Amino acid sequence: MPVERLQNYVGGEWISPDVQSVHVVHNPATGEPIGETPLCGAAEVDAAVQAARAAFASWRRTPVEERIQYLFRLKYLLEERAEDLAAVVTRENGKTLPEARGSVRRGIQMVEVACGAPSLLMGQALEDIATGIDCESVRQPVGVFTCIAPFNFPAMVPMWFFPFAVACGNTFVNKPSEQVPFSQKLVWELIHEAGFPPGVLNLVNGGRDVVNGFLEHPDVAGVSFVGSSPVAEHVYRTAAAHGKRVQALGGAKNFIVVMPDADMDHALDAIHESAFGCAGERCLAASVVVPVGGCHEAVREGLRERMGRVKVGDGAAPGVDMGPLISGPHRDRVVEYIETGVREGARLVVDGREGAPTGGYFLGPTLFDGVTPEMKIGSEEIFGPVLCVMPVDTLDDALELTRQQPLANAGSIFTTSGKHARKYRYEVEASMTGVNIGVAAPMSFFGFGGSKGSFYGDLKAHGREAFDFYTHRKVVISRW
Ligand code: NAD
Repeated sequence: MPVERLQNYVGGEWISPDVQSVHVVHNPATGEPIGETPLCGAAEVDAAVQAARAAFASWRRTPVEERIQYLFRLKYLLEERAEDLAAVVTRENGKTLPEARGSVRRGIQMVEVACGAPSLLMGQALEDIATGIDCESVRQPVGVFTCIAPFNFPAMVPMWFFPFAVACGNTFVNKPSEQVPFSQKLVWELIHEAGFPPGVLNLVNGGRDVVNGFLEHPDVAGVSFVGSSPVAEHVYRTAAAHGKRVQALGGAKNFIVVMPDADMDHALDAIHESAFGCAGERCLAASVVVPVGGCHEAVREGLRERMGRVKVGDGAAPGVDMGPLISGPHRDRVVEYIETGVREGARLVVDGREGAPTGGYFLGPTLFDGVTPEMKIGSEEIFGPVLCVMPVDTLDDALELTRQQPLANAGSIFTTSGKHARKYRYEVEASMTGVNIGVAAPMSFFGFGGSKGSFYGDLKAHGREAFDFYTHRKVVISRW
């Protein structure tokens, strides 16, 4: 049976790009093909950027109060279709329905915060900077912005960007991950229904050729990227070399410190969810748990016991705790890490290769103990349901471990001591920092992004920082 081929949305219309090459999209829970993403290139990028550029002239003059009315309508439509959107996320990504619902909710919250643009876009003013001379600083939109998204949050990640960009008066071109194009198709159908003027929001499907098209296009003002660190670095360097604004959010290796004084039940529940929720395919997932002092055994055994209760299966089925990985090649890559960990001499406590369902890209939760920072499994991003235990003696040792790790996206401490918590939050380098929290998640009203090799750029995503990224500040000095 033929599967649906995705279209682009350019200048307010759905169009079928004239390209031969496609990426076949699978339902990861069954392995069946469900669609084809056209792998567009420079010509399709140019068409979308030109539509966005043409729309910018009048959109930037549209009063912000009018601009946000479209976002209010979009918010209403997203609420109406939230359940459908979550089902699409689960079908193309594999995560469970509750996880998909949560991600849709977080996306909708971005639209809500962007609706505050009339206040958040305000500038500053000061009278009499010299006698009879006044000074004001205003924010103006910049032009055409773009977004390049990863596979793991198909609905939410582009919403980290476009609501803020267009609320500020810019126009936009979105490129979803070629592995999960259907969620953004539905979001863009709702955008169409919300009645945004043609060209304000555009969508181009594809892979690296679309990315490189954005990075080099003279009419693209800025790029927001979310994905792995090697690609983030490429995006950052190339976009910057072409004179663009860029924020590139990369990969992660997140260390979770457990102090012996922690509320152990709470800590282990939270770490377990953090490591194995979304099958470990979260940039904020716990990758390494660091028990400090005497709690090593309690941590390992508590996790082992919880892992034994995980039900792996189709994320759309009720009662399933963990869905499949995104693809066969990605599952093979994670299995290779498990084999590497065994070869490196780590102790395999729970082996997710055993007993996982067949038919889709399933792998059970996996636990290694006795992992060291020199091991590949202890230092590289695995992006799957594999958790490493790396015991140390003191909090200082734990902090030193985290300092050695370049992918400093997130980190947490579990403790009942204010002194330990304060020391940790003060010294840790990961910029998303949790205290008794398993996933220090992106909140729409705060900025979001990692540090060191997890983030290339300076201004982070959403929150107030979005209004800096998406505007140019102009200072006006007047004497009458
Ligand atoms: P990826 O880097 O393979 O792909 C991300 C995007 O870049 C996709 O749209 C893809 O089409 C494009 N791309 C891939 N290779 C490219 C290349 N060589 N040149 C140009 N473009 C290219 O990432 P992924 O596998 O889709 O997503 C998983 C990664 O994303 C993990 O590393 C994860 O940690 C990271 N991630 C980070 C965050 C964050 O907030 N820091 C959030 C989600 C995911």
